[in-house]
Amino acid sequence: MNNNCPECFSTEGLRFTFSQVEIENKFYSKAQKEITETLECETCNQIIYPVNWNEDIERVYNYHKKLAKPKSTAVQLKPLAYLLILLDALLIGWAIYYFSS
Ligand SMILES: [Zn+2]
Repeated sequence: MNNNCPECFSTEGLRFTFSQVEIENKFYSKAQKEITETLECETCNQIIYPVNWNEDIERVYNYHKKLAKPKSTAVQLKPLAYLLILLDALLIGWAIYYFSS
């Protein structure tokens, strides 16, 4: 983006970074709904916080926000979870077999 940096007034360093937080544990990973965005200036290496944004930055921000599509927030099962489900099924199968014979 070609806006002025509120800190060093350079017009070349400003850069938006959009990122999505992902919760992850052993069994599944799930992307958070909200996207966090940071505005950084590569010229003065400052993070420009929203309080310091001017109208132009705000406009660019809203434009980019529309383009940034969040990842699906559906839970994605990991292999370990599938393995446990499979083991469960085997165990139940075995139990049925064992108790019915
Ligand atoms: Zn700057």
